[in-house]
Amino acid sequence: MNLIDTGNELPLMESFYTLQGEGFHKGLAAFFIRIGGCDIGCHWCDVKESWDPKIHPSTNIDEIVNKAKSHSKVAVITGGEPLMWPMGPLTKKLQDSGISTHLETSGAYPLSGRWNWICLSPKKNKLPNKEFYKFADELKIIVYNKSDFSFAKLQSKKVKKECKLFLQPEWSVRKKISPLIVDFILKNPEWRASLQTHKYLDIP
Ligand code: SF4
Repeated sequence: MNLIDTGNELPLMESFYTLQGEGFHKGLAAFFIRIGGCDIGCHWCDVKESWDPKIHPSTNIDEIVNKAKSHSKVAVITGGEPLMWPMGPLTKKLQDSGISTHLETSGAYPLSGRWNWICLSPKKNKLPNKEFYKFADELKIIVYNKSDFSFAKLQSKKVKKECKLFLQPEWSVRKKISPLIVDFILKNPEWRASLQTHKYLDIP
């Protein structure tokens, strides 16, 4: 078994200190850890470079944690789809260093790791494991077309009562979709709007 199978090394695409742009923790300074590898295949994906894990260097998690420690008390682990890899070792080391662990996931793979916050963003191409919904602190649905509103409603029935509900326009269609999101939330006020504020701020 090599180190990547144990989660002691991970295919790291990039890491950077910035503001969380989306969802419940919007505006929070955090260290982002983007793990390579994703087989969900969303046609509108804005990080297609993340899909092939082989092009991202296998990186020791100590190196990742040391860099995170020098920047922030919050780490956002995103991808790609981070749960294609065992997240236990990385998240334990981050938490042992006093860093809160936030996950961004499609939920299509079994949960591993220790998390302070889980943002579940289900994709129609490959739905979350049904056991996953109870772990979500936040449900974030990307809205690309009108059918995503009924998808959002169906997905929201599966999460726990306290889970925060967000609708986020897909960036390339934001001008067309944002007014529809506003109308939907006025009629369904349990939802909130999430905008990709990092893109408006022109930060990573
Ligand atoms: Fe891209 Fe995320 Fe969809 Fe994977 S799940 S294809 S990383 S948007």
